[in-house]
Amino acid sequence: MGTLGNPAGTIAVLQKYGFNFQKKFGQNFLIDGRVLDRIIDAAEITEDDCVLEIGPGIGTMTQLLCERARHVVAVEIDSNLIPILEDTLSAYDNVTVLHGDILKVDIRDLVDTYNEGRPIKVVANLPYYITTPIIMGLFESHVPLLSITIMVQKEVADRMKEGPGSKEYGALSLAVQYYAEPKVMVHVPANCFIPRPNVDSTVIRLTRHPEPVVQVTDEKYLFAVIRASFNQRRKTLANGLTNAGNLGVTRELVQETLEEMGLSATVRGEQLSLEQFAALSNLLYARVHGK
Ligand code: SAM
Repeated sequence: MGTLGNPAGTIAVLQKYGFNFQKKFGQNFLIDGRVLDRIIDAAEITEDDCVLEIGPGIGTMTQLLCERARHVVAVEIDSNLIPILEDTLSAYDNVTVLHGDILKVDIRDLVDTYNEGRPIKVVANLPYYITTPIIMGLFESHVPLLSITIMVQKEVADRMKEGPGSKEYGALSLAVQYYAEPKVMVHVPANCFIPRPNVDSTVIRLTRHPEPVVQVTDEKYLFAVIRASFNQRRKTLANGLTNAGNLGVTRELVQETLEEMGLSATVRGEQLSLEQFAALSNLLYARVHGK
């Protein structure tokens, strides 16, 4: 049983250490035991798992993870939290706390050291401004991982899970769905945190596809095509691709390719599925590279 997932437990620890919240690190600590249990359940942690927790704070969720997992590696940027974590996690011998910025840590090295290179599960309640770079960094670098269970701003969860035709559908939806299956797990109101954030949150689990769901000649080219297609949201996809400048395509080539795919010259990015983006990017790539 964790001891911190309630207002009194958290306040006692904060007072004991005279802790001051740092806005720049996006510190909002969870104080609701039921929400914490639901996050841990959502992550489907088993006693075989090695879990990477990003941003443990005072160790509220870390305690619960330690009770379920074989090993927990927790990476925290704020040096003032390190002595607190040593205290709140002193009852557990299956946790490693590392002081550092997750965007600079060699996560593959952590996977090798703490899980012999086998896939890990990632759990995180992070500042919202680094959520996307962290998720994309983890996926794009192909670090061995099974899932990422992460607290995000409600709107970001919507963008990750939507498909064609929705106004939330865009480059983030496609990037996430290329690598993983998103599932919204828990809605978390602002009053479940100290201090209270200005927005409501959602926990989303991204389960990595065991096999790629689409075949792509060049991943980087696919993502460049996707970004260009959504760059100018109110313009046609053909304009977006032609104006991008980094795809090596002419307007004629784009139009020919759309026609070959049975798509209208005025089609917009938000109408295409991941499968269609993959086919489009493969065709353009082949033509640009003369293959
Ligand atoms: N997990 C705790 C909880 O749920 O109560 C704390 C969540 S708080 C929203 C985010 C945590 O991430 C803070 O402890 C903050 O210091 C830490 N953090 C922020 N940026 C970080 C980074 N780049 N690398 C590692 N930790 C970071």
